[in-house]
Amino acid sequence: MKRSAADIWESLKGQVDFLTEAGAGFALRRPGSVPGGPTAGIDGPAPDQRPGQDSQARMPGPASLPPLPERAPQTDAERQDLEELEAQVLSCRLCPLHRLRTNAVPGEGDRAAELMFIGEAPGRDEDAQGRPFVGRAGQLLRKIIAAMKFREDEVYITNIVKCRPPDNRVPHREESEACVPYLLRQIELIRPRVIVLLGKTPTDRFLPSRQGMTARRGNFGEYCGIPVMPTFHPSYLIRNEGNRELKRMVWEDMQKVMALLGRK
Ligand code: SF4
Repeated sequence: MKRSAADIWESLKGQVDFLTEAGAGFALRRPGSVPGGPTAGIDGPAPDQRPGQDSQARMPGPASLPPLPERAPQTDAERQDLEELEAQVLSCRLCPLHRLRTNAVPGEGDRAAELMFIGEAPGRDEDAQGRPFVGRAGQLLRKIIAAMKFREDEVYITNIVKCRPPDNRVPHREESEACVPYLLRQIELIRPRVIVLLGKTPTDRFLPSRQGMTARRGNFGEYCGIPVMPTFHPSYLIRNEGNRELKRMVWEDMQKVMALLGRK
């Protein structure tokens, strides 16, 4: 897809804005130095750590994970199954959320992406457009993706449930249970090399724990052999707009993903 100069400028500007707010200068400093000081490590603080505390012992970085295996190329049958799955989602009536939707939102991006982002559910803008992450939180996610040196059409973005819950509430358990088989099949067919979980709902689904997101983010887990990285949802960053520390944490998490994928 050819992009206009204005599109490229907007993308670069968004990338620089996010990196500046995230304090990217901190995140790129060399490891093994004074914690929180001018040469703090790339892994940054531990999840439940206050800025300035030492973190290296508690927070495994990508270096502690085995190298990602090579993937076999996606087959025509897998591609076709994905298209059929997306069509099924558009007409799905398996849970009560179908009654309130304008559009179901199966997901978008490269159907053979090596990197997949999973959020909670479509919001108002997503429901109106039938596309994931197009509202304010979506704009921020797209800045993060650009800062990670990926094009939007190189990754796949989707949610735990594909229809908007009323008033953007958290999906009920029965709604998630009805919808998650679509997501699991998407993962099976896309075969991403790394998955990023955006916020508590997808993190609870793939990495259940009693700990809060602050303790869980930044630590790779695993689903069917695929490394999964939980981090804060972009809407949480927006709700806490003045808190640059949160942006810095998300950027640290994304740097681990980039390192694992060889996108440093
Ligand atoms: S949320 Fe999922 S299970 Fe429920 S109607 Fe929409 S697509 Fe079907």
